Amino acid sequence: MKNIIVRLRELAPTGPARSPEEAREAAQRQARVLLEASGITRPPVPEAIIENLPRLVVHETLALTRPADLSFVNGTWLMLLNGLEPLVWRRWTMMHELKHILDHPEVETEGLRMIPDAPTRQAHKAAEGTADTFAASVLMPRPWVEQLWRDRNIHEVALLAWFFGVSFDAMRRRLEELELLPRRTRHPRGILV
Ligand SMILES: [Zn+2]
Repeated sequence: MKNIIVRLRELAPTGPARSPEEAREAAQRQARVLLEASGITRPPVPEAIIENLPRLVVHETLALTRPADLSFVNGTWLMLLNGLEPLVWRRWTMMHELKHILDHPEVETEGLRMIPDAPTRQAHKAAEGTADTFAASVLMPRPWVEQLWRDRNIHEVALLAWFFGVSFDAMRRRLEELELLPRRTRHPRGILV
């Protein structure tokens, strides 16, 4: 079977997306395929789906001042996560950073630091938004959220957040995106990473 990272990359258009919608749809497609390939059908999505990817090593460290750091060393991606952050944040960050890896195959050059500076502030913001879409789609797939909300009538944000292994804010924002709650929440981390 083809390396899942290669398969996921093939699901997104090469080069810059023509529109935010196109980028968002590609991220959602990639999230769906990642879950299917992992055989995960219910929450919470285990961190192992990232940790077990080939050529990717995930480490926690207490030495980071930011949520994560990515580098490509000896043919392997090294994803450092800030061990001081709560598990629900680290889970979000792992998925978010994986999307950066998927989007920038051209930086797989020894010694080059991820993430390359996006050409413009706007492009940087767009890349961050797409990475967040991917993270939300992997951790809180639409059909799973809708099933709990509509079929099982679970409307407690905190309880849903617990089911999905995400922060309250991330859950709340996902419910807003899926138009199950009125929009009002800021970015789940409050910052761009
Ligand atoms: Zn990012």
